Amino acid sequence: MSNRRQFFFQLSAGTGFVLAASSVRAAAPLVAENDPQAAALGYKADATKVDKTKFPKYAAGDHCGSCALFQGKASDAAGGCPLFAGKQVATKGWCSAYAKKA
Ligand code: SF4
Repeated sequence: MSNRRQFFFQLSAGTGFVLAASSVRAAAPLVAENDPQAAALGYKADATKVDKTKFPKYAAGDHCGSCALFQGKASDAAGGCPLFAGKQVATKGWCSAYAKKA
């Protein structure tokens, strides 16, 4: 293979990898509430189910979609959160690390 052909081959292989990686990210699984990290943070996929006695800082209306750490769009059903690498949290979810988006 000539250097030029090899270059294009590697370029297309690299592009394929990036596309595959982004589709994997889009299909990242949802965090389970019984995941150890989720349980430690009191994560609930439905913010209205948060134990308000255990987490008094929870205020009605708070949810991942309005959290500064949420990486999805408010209109998405779920999105990434740096606290749960490789997974997605429900937009309507909540955890005790919630920080209201400014
Ligand atoms: S840190 Fe924010 S976005 Fe992440 S799970 Fe907790 S409330 Fe949701």
